[in-house]
Amino acid sequence: MRIGIDLDDTICKTTETVHKYLEIYSEKKHLNPLDVMNDVDLKEEFFDEYLGKIYEEVEIKKDAQKVLKRLKSRGNKIYIITARKDAITKDGKTILEITKEWLQKNEIFVNKIILSSYGDKKAIICKKYLIDLMIEDDPYNYKKISTIGIKCLLFDDREKFNLKEDYVTNWLEVEKYIERNR
Ligand SMILES: [Mg+2]
Repeated sequence: MRIGIDLDDTICKTTETVHKYLEIYSEKKHLNPLDVMNDVDLKEEFFDEYLGKIYEEVEIKKDAQKVLKRLKSRGNKIYIITARKDAITKDGKTILEITKEWLQKNEIFVNKIILSSYGDKKAIICKKYLIDLMIEDDPYNYKKISTIGIKCLLFDDREKFNLKEDYVTNWLEVEKYIERNR
């Protein structure tokens, strides 16, 4: 099976790390974190300053490493398909380099990493790479991908969406689904 997987908030806890650095930045600026996120310039400044750090330090989700390792050892192909853009960070590294290093550090071995994929573009990428199953935390992407006939699981470990089908809340459920549908 060719399995496409989103990265941020699916494999790793990105929102938590963004919030952590948003607090630090806001405090430094004597601002409220919400005011930063609602101001285009401040938001841009914040991400320019911290995005590299966030992607380097973000924590992996429970069971993700071992499930992905098992899926790969059973012959599945793993494609990371993410909206991350390959910009150059403040420290002169590219987002792709940081992402590759992070995956290696967390012992996640994949067949391919595809950046800049969101919404319709993500759906087209899934089709192009003949993805059999996509795992995704963003309901907008879930909808775009499902609509063109590609099976997608909505990964929702914070249980925000509560769909009835195609709904998983942790990595062991992902594995169970794949084993059942081989
Ligand atoms: Mg995501």
